[in-house]
Amino acid sequence: MDTSVLVLNQNYEPLNITNVRRAVVLLCMGKAEVVKDDTGYIRSIEQSFRIPSVVRLVYFVKRPVPELKLSRKSVLARDDYTCQYCGEKGSNLTLDHIIPRDRGGKTEWENLACCCLKCNNKKANRTPQEARMQLCRPPRKPKYVPYISFPKFVAATRNDDFHEFLSPYVKSLEHR
Ligand SMILES: [Zn+2]
Repeated sequence: MDTSVLVLNQNYEPLNITNVRRAVVLLCMGKAEVVKDDTGYIRSIEQSFRIPSVVRLVYFVKRPVPELKLSRKSVLARDDYTCQYCGEKGSNLTLDHIIPRDRGGKTEWENLACCCLKCNNKKANRTPQEARMQLCRPPRKPKYVPYISFPKFVAATRNDDFHEFLSPYVKSLEHR
């Protein structure tokens, strides 16, 4: 029952990732309809439901589009938890200021990259040019519209059922 369910606004804009229980409540209350489901059934005393994987609200929710906040988690998600210098994936990752902070490098999307500890030590207080290290791709602020938190969103794009609904919204993940 802890499967994720993607909640779409009436206009199919991604709104939220929730769990099956909460999605079923929306369906029971007539607030949402199933767009996609997996094969299972949930039995309740009176009814049985298909287990939804994507639901759509039957009414339009108007919410201000939140600003995408810069955070460690969001940068790691943008870079797919992969060192942008050597391509290593894993848990021993940190954030690299591409132009070091004490050399005037800012804490912004364009100056931060996911980096493994090894590369971080090797690069030390140098620019990539000085350290002769090259970034796999230019670091950009993701072009991102939905209301879901960015790391959650990136994880959700890997769900086959969600992919078609989410992929139009992230331009910077197109290289995948
Ligand atoms: Zn590395």
